[in-house]
Amino acid sequence: MQRDEQIFELIEAEHERQLHGIELIASENFVSEQVMEAAGSVLTNKYAEGYPGKRYYGGCEVVDEVEQIAIDRAKTLFGAEYVNVQPHSGSQANTAVYHACLKPGDKILGFDLSHGGHLTHGSPVNFSGRLYNPVFYGVEKETGVLNYDKIQEIATKEQPKLIIAGASAYSRDIDFERFRTIADSVRAILLADISHPAGLIAKGILNDPLPHCHIVTTTTHKTLRGPRGGMIMMGKDFDNPFGITLKNGSLRKMSSLLDSAVFPGNQGGPLEHIIAAKAIAFGEALTDEFLHYQLQIKKNADAMAKALVAKDYHIISGGTDNHMMLIDLRNKNISGKDAEQALVKADITANKNMVPFDDKSPFVTSGIRLGVAAVTTRGLKEDDMKVIVDLVDEVIENYEDEATLEAVKAKVNAMMKDKPLFV
Ligand code: PLP
Repeated sequence: MQRDEQIFELIEAEHERQLHGIELIASENFVSEQVMEAAGSVLTNKYAEGYPGKRYYGGCEVVDEVEQIAIDRAKTLFGAEYVNVQPHSGSQANTAVYHACLKPGDKILGFDLSHGGHLTHGSPVNFSGRLYNPVFYGVEKETGVLNYDKIQEIATKEQPKLIIAGASAYSRDIDFERFRTIADSVRAILLADISHPAGLIAKGILNDPLPHCHIVTTTTHKTLRGPRGGMIMMGKDFDNPFGITLKNGSLRKMSSLLDSAVFPGNQGGPLEHIIAAKAIAFGEALTDEFLHYQLQIKKNADAMAKALVAKDYHIISGGTDNHMMLIDLRNKNISGKDAEQALVKADITANKNMVPFDDKSPFVTSGIRLGVAAVTTRGLKEDDMKVIVDLVDEVIENYEDEATLEAVKAKVNAMMKDKPLFV
């Protein structure tokens, strides 16, 4: 068979783009060589519907071992009692949880998308907002942080069946214990979606949801630095405290409801090559090196936020506890869309983002979201964050000046040229 040069040239072009640019998209990262090797391995050839030891296909002895190792490592990493590593993505993980816990039309309480939540937390353009009945909580206008008393008030008034704690663009730590008190007061199921800060949580740097939330979902490819994918976990509640009764009257453990919701409820064959890559990433995450990496993320994010504030950038909530920050650009007279486009011209990638109480559409937006997980993987430290902020500021102050954007791009390329993707 002839090698498909057309596609391989594009892959090389993307490799060059990643190498020469500064990656500030908060949901992205660079995986290790061994994670990539597993993701591109012969395991992609194998069908394995079912779970280890209970498959619907022959020849699953090897992938059974791989999947079990992934499960066991994830349990150790997060202190979980139950883990399902099969969701193809974070959205699939959330889909499966809703499928297991809710009926169409049931009420869910999630973090408003424009305040930092995710599409799958009840947005009207997503299945979660179309199939279920969403109500939302948000951040305070003055402080940009969550007000748990208000969330309690909304929960009491709305009586949701499921509450989602977690976000895509919230830079503060989340009080999962308080969320559980709120959920218990209305007998709601509490789901934590830790897709963004999972790596920081795994190493004990942020609040741990496992002791408090009934169910925890995450992606595996953000701060956790694994392959693109999702995962579902349960802590102490895995024996099903909700007394969920199925139509035929039988009571099943929540864990088996979740397993069935993933397969056969929402997916067919699991991606065993990706599950192998997840297992490797979890193995890497169990090391002390990964702790140092997460600590460096925290230091870098803090250094970046402080440098931005010093240049009069309005970070929602005033700073960050995790790997990211959301910036309201309205005092800089530039939209999120224009900022994103100008930054791309300078080989800096970030994404436009709605800010709380935004007056612009989701296609334009008033903000950008920045994250440091990817640049930290490339070995950058606090002083580099100050340089990056200078470059970002130069772009934003001169976003219509092509010559300046070209000059910044040259500086970005010079800064990144000797930095491998994964240190
Ligand atoms: N949940 C949160 C909080 C996210 O930020 C994301 C992705 O950005 C997801 C779920 C969905 O993940 P995926 O893109 O893998 O479907």
